[in-house]
Parts: sequence; C-alpha cells; structure tokens
Amino acid sequence: MQSDLEMLLKLQVIDYDLGELERSKEYLPDMMDNLKREIEETENLFRNTEKELSDSQIMQKNLEIDVSAKQVELKKFQEQMMAIKTNKEYDALINQIDNVKAIINEKETSLIEVIERLEKLENDIKEFEKRSSETKERNTKELSILQEKMDSVGTKIQVKESERGNITIRIPKRTMSTYETVRKSRGGSVVVPVRKRACGACYKGLPPHRIQELKRGDQLIICDNCGRMLLWMNGESE
Ligand SMILES: [Zn+2]
Repeated sequence: MQSDLEMLLKLQVIDYDLGELERSKEYLPDMMDNLKREIEETENLFRNTEKELSDSQIMQKNLEIDVSAKQVELKKFQEQMMAIKTNKEYDALINQIDNVKAIINEKETSLIEVIERLEKLENDIKEFEKRSSETKERNTKELSILQEKMDSVGTKIQVKESERGNITIRIPKRTMSTYETVRKSRGGSVVVPVRKRACGACYKGLPPHRIQELKRGDQLIICDNCGRMLLWMNGESE
C-alpha cells in the first residue's frame, strides 16, 4: 500500500504540473498582450509628445512673426503721429495705436505660455523617449521568452501525459477511481499528510485506531470528512 501511496504522490505532482501547463495556455497570451500593450502605450506617449512639441514650435514661430508684424504697424502709426493736423485725426490714430498695442500684448502673453509649455515638453520628451525605448527592449526580451514557453507547452503536456500513463497503469483501478473522484470534486491535493493527528487538508482529527492503521501503512486510509487520502510521515508525533 505504501508503494501505491508513493505512486499517488508522484501522480499528484504530475497532475499539479499538468494543471499549471493548462493554466499557462490561458495566462501566457494575457501576459504577452500586456507586454505588447505597454510597448504601444509608452511609444504613443512619446510620439504624441513629439507631435505636441513640433506643433508648439510652429505656434511659437507664428506668434513671433505676428508680433513683429504688429510692431512694424505700431511704428508706422507712431511715425504718422508727427504729421497729425487735426484732433479728429489724432483721436483716430491713438485708437489704432491702442488696438495694435492690445494685440501685441495678447500675442506676447500667448508666446510666453507657448515657451513655458515648450520647456516642459522638451523635458518630458527626453524622459518619454527613454521610457519607450527601455520598455521596448525589456518587453521584447520577455516576449521572446514567453513565446518560447508558449511554443513548448504542447510538448511539455505530452511528456507529462505519458509520465502519467506510466504511473496510473501501476495503480489499482479502485484506488485510481477514488483519486480521480476526489481530485475532480475537491480540487487541490488528493493525498495529504497527517498533521498533528488530523487530516492535513480539512483538519478533522483522527481517532487513535486510524493513526495505528496509518502507521502500519498496509491500507489506504481515507479521511472520513473530506475523502482525501492520508499519508503518514515519519517523524510525525504520535
Ligand atoms: Zn480531510
């Protein structure tokens, strides 16, 4: 019986590995999608900032051109002041000068804002470019590792399945059927060690005669409470 239990323990490890391999078929693609998305997001952040930077540079140029054009206009009006003959002409010209000054003022305020934004963007863009290229390099490496894992899952499952076959053939049919039933209904481990004179899974205490049977190791002992197979570990306190 001890050797059946040993077989069951090996089987349990294989089934755990098989479970992990099956799960990896789900989570590996998710992990890969996340890595790809991260590359895309940091790349987009860099590209968008680059676009915003070049738009702002164009805006700065245009504002500077506008301001100097308006300054030329202002100078022309100021020269006309010398040749003023009537009050009416004077009032009209003052009005024009005030208008041009207001426009210059407004454009200069916008220009300061654009220059401040440019300073921030120039700072950001270095950081975003670095982040983007680092993310790309790091995630590409991880992606190729994950892709290799993904590619080998099928083969690994085949290997484990054949190991499983070699073991199950050596376990009595009734024992196997108990194992499968508990595995499907309870999940997790089927063979559990006794801990502190109780089932290691559900913690239900074991009566002394059960402990004696376990120690003899000549029959398969099932937990009354959860149906798992119990394993006596040498060194467990009696
Ligand atoms: Zn139990």
